[in-house]
Amino acid sequence: MNELQRVRVPVIAGNWKMHKAPDEAEAYLRRFTAIVPRRDDRSILFFPPAVSLTTAVAATADRPDIGIGVQNIYWEPAGAFTGEISAPMAKRAGAAFTLIGHSERRHVFGETDEDVRRKVLAALDSGLVPVLCVGEKIEERRAGQADDVIIRQLQAAVEGLDAARISTILIAYEPVWAIGTGETATPDDAAAAHGVLRRLLRERIGDAADGVPILYGGSVKPGNAASLLAASDVDGLLVGGASLDPDDFAAIAGA
Ligand code: PEP
Repeated sequence: MNELQRVRVPVIAGNWKMHKAPDEAEAYLRRFTAIVPRRDDRSILFFPPAVSLTTAVAATADRPDIGIGVQNIYWEPAGAFTGEISAPMAKRAGAAFTLIGHSERRHVFGETDEDVRRKVLAALDSGLVPVLCVGEKIEERRAGQADDVIIRQLQAAVEGLDAARISTILIAYEPVWAIGTGETATPDDAAAAHGVLRRLLRERIGDAADGVPILYGGSVKPGNAASLLAASDVDGLLVGGASLDPDDFAAIAGA
C-alpha cells in the first residue's frame, strides 16, 4: 500500500511501540501474512520501530492491503537533531503512514499540541498519511473535560490546514486511561467520543468528514474487537499490546 491508495475501512492498525527488532519483525510478518489472507474490504497497518521499518516494508511488499508506518517523526526535514527521524526520510525508507501525538509521545516525552501540529504538517508535506492520536487522561475524564480535551487536541493539530488536507488524515481516539491498562472504553464510550470528533470534523470540512477514518485504541483484544468495531463512528482499531502476537492480531484483524 502506498500513500496514494486510500485506506479501506475498517482500518486495523498495530503499534509495536519499542518492540521487535528487524529479525523479529520479519518472523512475525512471515507468520501473519501466512495466516491472514488478503482482503479488499479492510486495511491493516503496522507501526514497527524505525529500525525495523525497511524489513517490514520488504516483508509486506506483495500485500496491497497492508500499509507500514513510523511511530513518530520530527518536523524538520534534515539537520542537527540527534536521535530524530524526518518525514522525508521515513517516506524514502518506504513508510506510507506515521503515528502523530500518541499518548506516550505526549505524556512520556512531553510533546505539546504545537509539536503535534508541526508534525502533522511535516507529514502531509512529505506525502506521509498522519494517524493523529487524541485522548484524555483519567483525571480529565473524571473532571468532565474529556470532550474539551479531544476537541482541543484535534483543533490544534489541524489548525491552518484546508479541507482537502484535513480529509486525508486518519484519527485515533485513544483514551489515555485505557492504553496498556487492560481497561477498555465501552463501545458506547467510544461511540460518544468518536461522535464528538466527527461533529468537529463536519464543522471544518463538511460531508468529507464522513470519509475520515476514526480508529479506537486502548486495550483492544481479540475478545472485544468486534463489539468496538460495531460501535457507531468507529472505523477501525489501533492496537498496542495485542498486536505483538501475530495470532492475536490476526484474530483482531478478522473481527
Ligand atoms: C496503543 O499503543 O496505541 C495502544 C492502544 O496500546 P494498548 O492496545 O496496549 O492499550
